[in-house]
Amino acid sequence: MPWANGADKNPGRFWSKVEVLGADECWPWTASSSNKGYGKLWWGGKCEGAHRISYMLEHSLDELPKKMDDSRVDIMHSCDNVKCVNPAHLSLGTAMLNQRDKTAKGRHHMHQRKTCKYGHEWTDENTGFMAPPSMKAKDGKQWVSRYCKTCHSKRGKNYYYTVDGKRRQTDEYKKRKNARRRELYAERNPNAKLRGEMPRKPKESK
Ligand SMILES: [Zn+2]
Ligand SMILES: [Zn+2]
Repeated sequence: MPWANGADKNPGRFWSKVEVLGADECWPWTASSSNKGYGKLWWGGKCEGAHRISYMLEHSLDELPKKMDDSRVDIMHSCDNVKCVNPAHLSLGTAMLNQRDKTAKGRHHMHQRKTCKYGHEWTDENTGFMAPPSMKAKDGKQWVSRYCKTCHSKRGKNYYYTVDGKRRQTDEYKKRKNARRRELYAERNPNAKLRGEMPRKPKESK
């Protein structure tokens, strides 16, 4: 075991793999990185993120806290540069905060897509936003989600409202849904006979 007893936690070894530039600049990690682009290094007997190590060294921590406010702890980049390990660009956050930060900056992986699930483009005219009260974080911040207007209005046409405000599926929608179900069922059970296609029981003759 070359790195027994935490001997691998060597700051010199860590910094030798970093291109240290100006105080305000990003300091890129030069050694191996994960498939998401984060630098990684064998540290304390396990593979650790380079940005996480940088944060621990800067704040003289032996380990990062696992949880904060009931959420997983993440080290966030103010510069959005995953390769960067400049401690001035790193801060302690939670996975939830990190996701929210990404969404706000349009870096969330779902926001990289050009179209909605059904192929409608995410143009300004076609993108709507909603902020349902159920999507409130613990700190009271409101989450906002986006939706495809084309899909939204299409879905809306599948329902109507009764006088007492209850939502009902239109007959046309029910028919389409059932036809689709029938299709799927027939695909999965090629030998099955659907109702209506069953041979009728011959009437017993007296
Ligand atoms: Zn940076
Ligand atoms: Zn759509």
